[in-house]
Amino acid sequence: MFSKSNPSQNEEMAIPSSADNRSTFSVIGSDVTVSGDIDASVDLHIDGRVEGDIHRTTYRALEARARKLAAAFEAAGVKKGDRVGTLAWNGYRHMEAYYAVGGMGAVVHTINPRLHPDQIAWIINHAEDRHMVFDVTFLPIIQAVAPKCPNVEQWIALIDADRQPEADVPGLTNYETFLASGRDDYVWPEMDENSAVALCYTSGTTGNPKGALYGHRSTVLHAYAAALPDAMGASARDTILPVVPMFHVNAWGIPYVAPMVGAKLVFPGGQLDGKSVHDLFEQEGVTYSAGVPTVWLGLLQYMKENGLKFSTLSRTVIGGSACPPAMIKTFRDYGVDVIHAWGMTELSPLGTLSRLQGKHLDLPEDAQMKLYEKQGRVVYGIDMKIVDDEGKALPWDGTTYGNLLVRGPWVIREYFKGEGGDPLAYDAEGKGWFPTGDVATIDGDGFMQITDRSKDVIKSGGEWISSIDLENLAIAHPDVANAAVIGVAHPKWDERPLLIAVRRPGSEVTREQLIAHYEGRIAKWWTPDDVQFVDELPLGATGKVLKTKLREQFKDYKLPTA
Ligand code: AMP
Repeated sequence: MFSKSNPSQNEEMAIPSSADNRSTFSVIGSDVTVSGDIDASVDLHIDGRVEGDIHRTTYRALEARARKLAAAFEAAGVKKGDRVGTLAWNGYRHMEAYYAVGGMGAVVHTINPRLHPDQIAWIINHAEDRHMVFDVTFLPIIQAVAPKCPNVEQWIALIDADRQPEADVPGLTNYETFLASGRDDYVWPEMDENSAVALCYTSGTTGNPKGALYGHRSTVLHAYAAALPDAMGASARDTILPVVPMFHVNAWGIPYVAPMVGAKLVFPGGQLDGKSVHDLFEQEGVTYSAGVPTVWLGLLQYMKENGLKFSTLSRTVIGGSACPPAMIKTFRDYGVDVIHAWGMTELSPLGTLSRLQGKHLDLPEDAQMKLYEKQGRVVYGIDMKIVDDEGKALPWDGTTYGNLLVRGPWVIREYFKGEGGDPLAYDAEGKGWFPTGDVATIDGDGFMQITDRSKDVIKSGGEWISSIDLENLAIAHPDVANAAVIGVAHPKWDERPLLIAVRRPGSEVTREQLIAHYEGRIAKWWTPDDVQFVDELPLGATGKVLKTKLREQFKDYKLPTA
């Protein structure tokens, strides 16, 4: 069952061997030597714990604890291929669980705590998790889901033994006590490189969530590709703070990339507000970060209000939804390169990243900006194409848009348990391409730009309007904190764009001013027909605007032009 599914980011076990001081990582099935010093004396990893303090450790110590934890899981009956669930922030114990579970041949199944408890229970039962580790922040969720998950034998709280909470949850266990029960002489097993290492469910905005199962092989390949200079470009001189959660497609591979290159890793725990993140960046000398646009809104707002700067941050990967150009510009003004990236749960997740080529270095800033705004070129290993509705390949001219398809060693082949339909399309080239559900253009240099999710595109009089373009322009307005554009029914044009905007605190910007803001910046017929102001936009579990909710909320809305 496992070997068939392919993809995404698995945890390939890059576990530093403690045999000597060299940086040899024992990777399941083979040994790989990586550059980057894994010296026990280096602080590699810090963590704002749920205990509220900072914990420093090394990869060497992490490996020893992960091995002991694997032994404890083995004694508790976890076998190769079994799923172990996690409901946890980015923290060192979560990282230990990643490596213990993956390294012993079991599958680390990360669950997004922002989902509804019923969905969480559904996912735990579907994955057949029998052991769950969780941060105590999420104890109320565990209390709600435990009665619905009778097959879970152990709910393991990631906290010091003397802080273990009491709760009426059968099988409630303390992580440190459990880990201490493991043997020190456990030996990592050998296993097929195509066996599974990690499992993530898609957000499932329509129908049930679907499981994307990642193999050791695909995870290792993904991590190598992610570490390339024009991808994440991570090195042993970096200090990486993933703001993107380890439950959002394995923090985009960072838990595998950082040990692979020997970078210092900083985990923020549950403190993701602007002040906490900025303090940690400064205190730990973070050079590299990654996250979805919505988390950066909070940080940038906090920095603006307090007149702050970054002293060490040099670049950040932004993806998960389109990064507004205004955000790219603000980061650049702070001296930080934004690496706009596109990916999906079904892709482990990296597909494309936007970095300049040599020939672009002398371009004026505004021409370079146009490239930063795109989602970029494929990382080596991924192929892409755009096709029309009949599956015919479309030209790479930067203006023709079509359905985006991808293939590659870390692109999904089938969903977990074969449920959720066949993810691969049959086309003129046979089977093998995954239809992403995104609509995109690709220019002559291979820079891909998402114009929309196919279900979000606004179909006006037989032509398509990109909701992302309209949102980016709205967010660039100084009085707009956030914005979304949806298509609403129109008797003549089928659909017309409606702008839903959140004003910045204290602003009284009007509908007319926002509509005027589009003038000269976009084809006239793309201009939204109306504007509605709201206090906030509904966000999904991974920080993306929930357009399904907005469409529901505005389904009876009558445009003034209708
Ligand atoms: P998920 O699997 O939940 O991470 O969602 C993947 C989807 O997020 C993609 O198919 C895109 O629709 C969207 N997405 C991811 N990155 C970007 C980006 N940089 N720009 C626009 N949309 C994006």
